Amino acid sequence: LTEKLQNIFKNLRSKGRLTEDDVKEALKEIKRALLAADVNFKVVKDFIKKVQERAIGQDVMSGLNPGQMVIKIVNEELVELMGSETTDIQLQPGSAITVIMMAGLQGAGKTTTTAKLAGKYKLKGKKPLLVACDVYRPAAIKQLQVNGEKQGVEVFAMGENNKPANIAKAALEHARKNGHNIVILDTAGRLHIDEDMMGELQEIKEAVTVHQTILVIDAMTGQDAVNVAKEFNDKIGIDGVIITKLDGDTRGGAALSVKAVTGKPIFYAGMGEKLSDLEQFHPDRMASRILGMGDVLSLIEKAEAQIDEEKARQMTQKMKKAQFDFDDYLESMKQMRNMGGLGNIMSMMPGLGAMGGMKMKNLDDEQTAQAEKSLARIEAMIYSMTPAERRDPDLLNPSRKHRIAKGAGVDISEVNRMVKQFGEMRKLMKTFGKSARKGRLRFPF
Ligand code: GDP
Ligand code: MG
Repeated sequence: LTEKLQNIFKNLRSKGRLTEDDVKEALKEIKRALLAADVNFKVVKDFIKKVQERAIGQDVMSGLNPGQMVIKIVNEELVELMGSETTDIQLQPGSAITVIMMAGLQGAGKTTTTAKLAGKYKLKGKKPLLVACDVYRPAAIKQLQVNGEKQGVEVFAMGENNKPANIAKAALEHARKNGHNIVILDTAGRLHIDEDMMGELQEIKEAVTVHQTILVIDAMTGQDAVNVAKEFNDKIGIDGVIITKLDGDTRGGAALSVKAVTGKPIFYAGMGEKLSDLEQFHPDRMASRILGMGDVLSLIEKAEAQIDEEKARQMTQKMKKAQFDFDDYLESMKQMRNMGGLGNIMSMMPGLGAMGGMKMKNLDDEQTAQAEKSLARIEAMIYSMTPAERRDPDLLNPSRKHRIAKGAGVDISEVNRMVKQFGEMRKLMKTFGKSARKGRLRFPF
């Protein structure tokens, strides 16, 4: 697939804006990729339409061809669709008991995930209680007990001759008496959506207060995941999803479908049969997995880095002419963050490391955190300046400095120090800028 895409893109020449043809051409392949990743057909259709509307007429970033630009937009929209940030299961505040109910079809991974979650919570100092509400197979209760034992977590069971709702009630009583603060109900699935199963889950919800209902979905379910998620959400209401078996070779389109249809976040991803194989869900990683275009995506990242380099080059020019101002300073701080190697570069920042020695050194975590704090203070001071002051540091007289100190919530002496060091930095840059080899300098410090 990737090869095919690249061939198409080779034929598209770089130009200013995305035309309707560029977008349509690229989206044809994206559509195929999404369907191959088992994203639900209707979800794909809606998604493509949305991307099309956003993409046509957009500027193409330098370094990208139109096709890659479309992929960049697709990737961003995918991440957006799956939730821009990681979300966690919401626990009750303080020492209140949180009741979590696991729901899902048979074989989805409820029992395994129940035990995995228990291990996570135990590590966080919680006292979980696992409850065997799957009364249809003796093996199911045993399975939970075995897993609970592996995790060193108590399992509450009442055999097979009780209603799940009653077991849940009794378990909650037990939890209160024994100081458990998280109760996880492992329920029975069925092979297909059926009224029995939904009724049973509803009964549990009526018998005890369930704070979080979690739908467990097998990533290999493919197209069907959408119906399953929709039914569960409509009938019993879910708060979020855990997607299992992402360690398999499935592209994981189910994740996309489920989120698109229910609007509920994906909390975790099951990455194997071992009880430690549960990971926080990362929408961005999932997006590139679904697209299956690792190399195209890294190309895009490179193009983005290149743009940073262009900016850095412009800054170098300014430095040489001693035109470097506070806006540039802010911009370079932003770039440093993007480049990731904060710890490496920080020691060279005026006011953060030793002014005299312009040498690189590796900072440890604590030093980096310290440096980041100082950086945030400097940013606060610059943000408290007027645009004119940022462009012309020479404007900064005592009364202006006082105003800035107040705005940034720092002492006047701190503003004085920063401005003085900024002046020294400018001087230094002028010399440094002249000696920097052309094109080699990524960063003006
Ligand atoms: P339940 O019927 O929903 O309770 O499903 P189970 O917890 O019994 O899991 C069904 C099967 O899937 C078991 O063989 C599990 O070991 C396996 N399983 C569960 N989660 C994962 C996962 O994240 N990765 C893999 N590879 N297997 C899993
Ligand atoms: Mg089970």
